[in-house]
Amino acid sequence: MPEGLEAEIWRSALDALVGRTITDVWIDDRVADPGLAVVLPGSPVERIERCGKVIRIHTPDHVLGLHFGMTGRVIVDGVAPIESLEYASDKDRPAWDRLRLGTAGATGTDIPALRVNDPRRLGRSSLDADLDHLGVDILSVDTDLLAVALDGRRAAIKTVLLDQTVVAGLGNLCADEVLWWSGVAPQRSVDSLTEPEVDSIASAIAVRLPIMLRRGGSTMGELNPTRRQALGSCPRDLAPLQRATIGGRTAVWCPGHQQ
Ligand SMILES: [Zn+2]
Repeated sequence: MPEGLEAEIWRSALDALVGRTITDVWIDDRVADPGLAVVLPGSPVERIERCGKVIRIHTPDHVLGLHFGMTGRVIVDGVAPIESLEYASDKDRPAWDRLRLGTAGATGTDIPALRVNDPRRLGRSSLDADLDHLGVDILSVDTDLLAVALDGRRAAIKTVLLDQTVVAGLGNLCADEVLWWSGVAPQRSVDSLTEPEVDSIASAIAVRLPIMLRRGGSTMGELNPTRRQALGSCPRDLAPLQRATIGGRTAVWCPGHQQ
């Protein structure tokens, strides 16, 4: 499932569109603002930005927002920057396209410059959406910013880390990974955390997420999908990993070293 790290990989790939002019826009209007197809053609792409899990494609007058759900991927000039097992058996189905954007100044083919392909239609494409509610971005977190963001919260740390108004861009895999590295149990209430524990969580976000990003995204952690599925032993201390439901999401954690 796309998290902020996947969005960052796609943002980087979408930089190829900067300087091109949008020629045509096709949308699945069940999951896209219909105004997109009206206002975007003829506009140049000025810059690509990522805010948490959201990608924003800026033109002089409007912003196209790509918001991802549990599934979905981005294809740029016919190439998918991230391939996932989810798609391996089904290949590439144009019927799952939710947005296609053509540009002039591309490679001279009729391949869309951008496709958003999502079998479950859980994502959406927005026009000029306001993202002011988002919290500190995953790639900008430090101890002070995290302490301010957590201040006054009382829910389980895992639940709070998934709240996009607190930290923007963390998803289920990265939140579990960060807590595993920081040695904090996912069900701990935020108001019980000590300053060193908050510092440890901030450090895990700042250090581990860029490493996972370089390796290919949110599935590249120690608690990767294979290990989560097998629920074997903790790679740090060999204690049996456990699964729990916290805030309606599945957490995988180690009772051996996460306190
Ligand atoms: Zn452990």
